[in-house]
Amino acid sequence: MKYDFLIVGAGLFGAVFAEQAVKKGYRCLVIDRRDHIAGNIYTEEIEGIQVHRYGAHIFHTSDRKIWNYINQFAEFNNYINSPIAVYKNETYNLPFNMNTFSRMWNIRTPQEAKDIIASQIAELHITDPKNLEEQALSLAGRDVYEKLIKGYTEKQWGRPCTELPSFIIKRLPFRFTYNNNYFNDRYQGIPIGGYTAIAAKMLQGCEIRTNTDYFTFIRENPDVADRIVFTGMIDEYFGYRLGALQYRSVRFETEVLDTDNYQGNAVVNYTDRDVLYTRIIEHKHFEFGTQPKTVISREYSSEWRVGMEPYYPVNNEENNALYRKYRELADREKNVIFGGRLGQYRYYDMDKVIAAAMEAADAAL
Ligand code: FAD
Repeated sequence: MKYDFLIVGAGLFGAVFAEQAVKKGYRCLVIDRRDHIAGNIYTEEIEGIQVHRYGAHIFHTSDRKIWNYINQFAEFNNYINSPIAVYKNETYNLPFNMNTFSRMWNIRTPQEAKDIIASQIAELHITDPKNLEEQALSLAGRDVYEKLIKGYTEKQWGRPCTELPSFIIKRLPFRFTYNNNYFNDRYQGIPIGGYTAIAAKMLQGCEIRTNTDYFTFIRENPDVADRIVFTGMIDEYFGYRLGALQYRSVRFETEVLDTDNYQGNAVVNYTDRDVLYTRIIEHKHFEFGTQPKTVISREYSSEWRVGMEPYYPVNNEENNALYRKYRELADREKNVIFGGRLGQYRYYDMDKVIAAAMEAADAAL
């Protein structure tokens, strides 16, 4: 049987595109090299808890159209992301707000916090920041930088802040209110029943084949579809012929613990360099779980090499220039649409990936 579309990747981009196409009567075959659908938003149930296998995912958007769209596929709870930072034996609220500052300096008013930050910045006399350390110091002052930014950023990038470019931090989201809500978006929550169920609903009406790698599959079935939607890595599609784009990867160590509450919060960042992981996620707190056990994931940031799971694109000048060259090749590829975080080599939040997939579908269908 010949399909209208072969959709490579059952992640959010592929699933939204497929949903739009099926609705309009197109026949779609969706393949994924993993043994499951949903891509990086995949959640699996362990001990009655929805575990986010590829990292914590909180849905947030200010776009009412996207919010209404995603709510067709799941009901969302009222989870608000309010991470905690642990530095040595000190505990702070994130994002940087009056709760953080009052704990750090034993103060109460916004003016006191602003004065301390301003005086710490002035003491440093940094006028032209040459690296990330100088940039962060010139924006945050010494205390916030040393306790909450330095170690975490160095673990994330695997390099000292003095060797990282200043553009990584353009501004710091300081809030001079007692507001621990990490996101400024109007809508936020976690889907009740997990993200995998959302992808499954979106993919209804398509044929799905997991454990199926595009490159082998297309060799054996070159005429399977009229058009292809490719959401894998753009450089891999072209056999890395111009070189490999760089990523950062993340390693997760997931454990079931025989306690009902390990850390009292879904997301705890470890900002001290001596603690090797960057965060511990306690999944049940995303859904206000009351199970007798708990599941935690320690996240370790790591260097990426071809063959590993790519997580974060390293969008420096060199990689962006290389991506643009691949993009030129992609534009010449007939009947192939490149989409999603890997096909477009950019970090996309879920709401943005949905918008991009809808736009691609509007243009193609
Ligand atoms: P993916 O989900 O990666 O889907 C691509 C699929 O293509 C994969 O399943 C892959 O196996 C498959 N594939 C690739 N190559 C091939 C091939 N050759 N053959 C067959 N299949 C192939 N967004 C938010 O809005 N909120 C958050 O809190 C949030 N947290 C995040 C945390 C982390 C650690 C990361 C990395 C991202 C986070 N995101 C978050 C972003 C979110 O994960 C993405 O927006 C979304 O997953 C992108 O979907 P996608 O379909 O583009 O990619």
